[in-house]
Amino acid sequence: MAAIPMAYASVAALQHDHRACRRCVVAGYLDLAHPVFSGRAGQRILLVGQAPGPYEVDANRPFAARAGRQLMRWMERAGFSGDEDVRQRMYMTAMTTCFPGRRPGGQGDRRPSAREVALCSSWLDAVLELLRPRLILPVGSLALERFLPHRRLDQVVGEAYTQTGEVIVATPSAAPVLLPLPHPSGQSRWLNDRTQSALLDRALLRLHELVRWAESSEN
Ligand code: SF4
Repeated sequence: MAAIPMAYASVAALQHDHRACRRCVVAGYLDLAHPVFSGRAGQRILLVGQAPGPYEVDANRPFAARAGRQLMRWMERAGFSGDEDVRQRMYMTAMTTCFPGRRPGGQGDRRPSAREVALCSSWLDAVLELLRPRLILPVGSLALERFLPHRRLDQVVGEAYTQTGEVIVATPSAAPVLLPLPHPSGQSRWLNDRTQSALLDRALLRLHELVRWAESSEN
């Protein structure tokens, strides 16, 4: 079943339909669909993760568990005052917005397949179209592939990018700006490497500047 391109007049209408989506159940990927995202009209920052986990489904909010607490600590380093401040100012969604289940026989959550990402992509496309965010934060490698294809996290974290993948060295002249982040999941070993941890420090400094730019811009 192909994802259907959709245009919405309001965020409320989009969220209503998104909450009712059952495409992955119909296609046989999930037993149960429960789309998890949060946000409202007027937010200038869009955060895109991989997929919610079981705690996010229970809480019905993205990044509600351990990875979320780590993410919120990063956001505080970037100038946000805390969890609620982040949620008030950021639309939060994911490459697939239902819990994909646990990895077969292993720890952690299953990485959604390319087909599931394709099925869910029109919801992300509709958010991008309607919100026109000035700052987009792809979190983790799956979201990175959507916004800066064929690049690795260690090649891109620490810098901001135009939509076409050029590094932005000063104040951006156009939106949207892409600022990739690693995934804050405890399953990720990415930050065990000191060089990569320094890249995150650099990204959070850049985020501090870009949040002000995104929220103060008129267009
Ligand atoms: S993951 Fe996305 S496409 Fe699949 S059922 Fe959930 S909302 Fe729909």
